[in-house]
Amino acid sequence: MADIQSTEKSRELFDRAARVVPGGVNSPVRAFRSVGGDPRFMVSGEGCRMTDADGNTYVDLVSSWGPLILGHAHPHVIDAVTAAAVKGTSFGTPTPGEVDLAEELVARTGVERVRMVNSGTEATMTALRLARAATGRTKIIKFAGCYHGHVDPLLAAAGSGVATLALPDSPGVVGTDETIVAPYNDIDSVAKIFAEHDGQIACVITEAAAGNMGVVAPRDGFNRKLAELCRANGALLILDEVMTGFRVSKNGWAGFSGDTADLFTYGKVMGGGLPAAAFGGRAELMDMLAPSGPVYQAGTLSGNPLACAAGLATLQLCDDDLYAKLDAVSQTLGEAAVAALTEAGVPHRLSRAGNMFSVFFTADDVSDFAGAQAQNVAAYRAFFHEMLAKGVYLPPSAYEAWFVSGALDDEAVAQIADALPYAARAAAKV
Ligand code: PMP
Repeated sequence: MADIQSTEKSRELFDRAARVVPGGVNSPVRAFRSVGGDPRFMVSGEGCRMTDADGNTYVDLVSSWGPLILGHAHPHVIDAVTAAAVKGTSFGTPTPGEVDLAEELVARTGVERVRMVNSGTEATMTALRLARAATGRTKIIKFAGCYHGHVDPLLAAAGSGVATLALPDSPGVVGTDETIVAPYNDIDSVAKIFAEHDGQIACVITEAAAGNMGVVAPRDGFNRKLAELCRANGALLILDEVMTGFRVSKNGWAGFSGDTADLFTYGKVMGGGLPAAAFGGRAELMDMLAPSGPVYQAGTLSGNPLACAAGLATLQLCDDDLYAKLDAVSQTLGEAAVAALTEAGVPHRLSRAGNMFSVFFTADDVSDFAGAQAQNVAAYRAFFHEMLAKGVYLPPSAYEAWFVSGALDDEAVAQIADALPYAARAAAKV
């Protein structure tokens, strides 16, 4: 496949966008701020490839930041969305598709009830509200480098774009004084916080496996010990599976690891590339939500028929064969990255959580945000741009997961493998 040629049309679009949209983007990390250069405006996608406004084609290792587990424009998903769309895009009433998707989520995860929302942000925001309502407490514990959406109290020491742009805790945010931040993977510090704030902690929220500081898996038993500490202290555990849910296994990280929690949040894959997310848990907790109970939560477009159709069609193809393929291709690509970086003499750590992975440009193992921040971001920048020039689209940030899709074919894998040594040599020069 040809190297990337002109990107002039993307540049023109970005100039137009910057005049009417803050920073020219509708979500910060899309802007290439931390890697430099101009973002590419994509106009179409098919399978594992996407094409920009200038006609350049890229192998996609971002997969819309996780949702596109089947790749772009999968015919089964497009047919389902099209069939739903011709019947009407929204009714503001219950629809059968919501029941189908809710049943599928419940069957896969074992939660007793789910409520559908439009984004992961809404899911974690309401899970938090529910935990506070159920416990009558206000303080929460979150982990540095974990991102749970742009929910005010969860923006303390957040990962993803906040980490990428090295922003201080965002101005305009209130409520972080009730948020206690602990180092990821450090169970002793959580125990200490519980002891210091006896009877005041409503919940602990954690990414089921961290993917927003780059990928950092929980240490063996970390999530289980969090659940135990929560139980012993009358607090709830919220396992945020927005990224891991239905990506690392048929039933998410919980299914993959055996971890349990009181409340779960889902998003990304379950919407099949349309806006759908959910949170769920035991009936007794979830039935505190209006109209069954007093905790208010609502959404004009929640359970939207197109989004539910896309999500259900996607999950119908999320079977054992797909996860076997994702595991294998993620293994192959990770090994190829390690080989190229080793050959070029670039210090690095491949970091995995199931089929999610990322590469930290550091010589030390990474188990928390401080470790992730010790990486050589400039080396990633050089690596990213060389891959991009060779038609491989990696996350434009050193603090994000690389997402494989079931659509990656042999030709794409070969293209990535061919590009890696160039990118590794570029990183070696930094
Ligand atoms: N939780 C996690 C673990 C996430 O990765 C994200 C998004 N990357 C969110 C919550 C927020 O989801 P959304 O962007 O749909 O609001």
